[in-house]
Amino acid sequence: MSMQSPITEYLADIIAATNHVDSGAVADYIPELGAADPNLVAVAMSTVNGTVYASGDAEHRFTIQSMSKPFAYALAIETHGLETVLDRIGVEPSGEAFNELSLDPETGKPRNPMINAGAITTHSLIGDDEDACVDRMLALFSRLAERPIEIDEVVAASELETGDRNLGLAYLLHASNALRQDPRTVVTGYIRQCAASVNVRDLALMAATLANGGVQPNTGERVFSRMGTRHLLSVMTSCGMYDAAGDWLTTVGIPAKSGVAGGIIGVLPGQVGVAVFSPRLDAHGNSARGVEMMKLLSDDLGLHLMEASRPARSSLRETRTTSVDGRPATVYVLQGDLVLSSIESLVRELIDNPPPTELVVFDMSRVDEVLPVARRTSAETAAKLIDEGHQIALIDPENTIPGFRDSHGRAVERWTSEHMDATDR
Ligand code: GLU
Repeated sequence: MSMQSPITEYLADIIAATNHVDSGAVADYIPELGAADPNLVAVAMSTVNGTVYASGDAEHRFTIQSMSKPFAYALAIETHGLETVLDRIGVEPSGEAFNELSLDPETGKPRNPMINAGAITTHSLIGDDEDACVDRMLALFSRLAERPIEIDEVVAASELETGDRNLGLAYLLHASNALRQDPRTVVTGYIRQCAASVNVRDLALMAATLANGGVQPNTGERVFSRMGTRHLLSVMTSCGMYDAAGDWLTTVGIPAKSGVAGGIIGVLPGQVGVAVFSPRLDAHGNSARGVEMMKLLSDDLGLHLMEASRPARSSLRETRTTSVDGRPATVYVLQGDLVLSSIESLVRELIDNPPPTELVVFDMSRVDEVLPVARRTSAETAAKLIDEGHQIALIDPENTIPGFRDSHGRAVERWTSEHMDATDR
């Protein structure tokens, strides 16, 4: 089969389907961010086995901004233990904008680590001085993304010049003894943390590490503890999308974090990390087109946490070679729900080990449900097989994939299981 994976083509479709979304405006409170090309767009995803799929301006680098906050928080927890961190930073959604000048009136603590007050406090917990904090964060990003991550010094310098609000917050925190270093030092470090330069591929891998319970899928390194990761994902779920958290949870329904450069990461525990990028922001400070892309991904991939959970085992139960009417055939026996992670491993198998026979049979008798992403991906896969000279047949007694055609609209033969039994046993 040709090299372009149907999953990559699916991601290209997500970009095409949101082409019309041009609302919102590029953030310009950091002057350098205002210079971004508003038409850039990218999407990437990584399954928990570490394969990254990406489409659009996937190599374009932008600053991580607030998407750094969850990783800093997780690192603070690994460093000091959860209790110490909870003593200093709450876990309640604030319903406020990211840079609100507020602390919880009862506790005097930042309400959560995803708004700036909490993130600045978190940053100060990472190390003993500015360089140590920033170096630890960069080292962490690099381990997660599997390449050396650096700071975009132009954006960092630009934000430092306009960082009055964050400085104000830091002085407020300092006044209540929440910071380990002086306010200027912490804000400089925090702004540099936010200016780490990444692309959607990096972010998808970083998110996939969280989806994988804290273990980087490719290196196998345990970066965060299982409990720390669970705690972080809970906080991302309730507080990750600023004052749009409720709308986000009901429509997209996965732990997520956005940044003002236009990125959003999302995590479906046990399955996948996703990342989208488009610089124009909505009134909440979240990427407008990014939110639309995430909604589509969530619907198609069945990502919403409150959907009945679908075990992410492989959809390929077994592969058999047999003969039908005297012709050699390869039979793929599929099982369970065809969700993103299960269909992904099947498609990869078909690309890595193309079927050796002209006749290819997909036995869907044991399949329960086929999600939209699996249907689209299967249609593309079928088209590739047919284009390469294969003949395809489906055994689908429960009609789990009604009216199935390949992505060029060609009908696919349907056989009954008797058809097989009569001929090959
Ligand atoms: N560096 C930005 C700030 O603190 C991050 C904001 C964001 O991405 O939401 O203002």
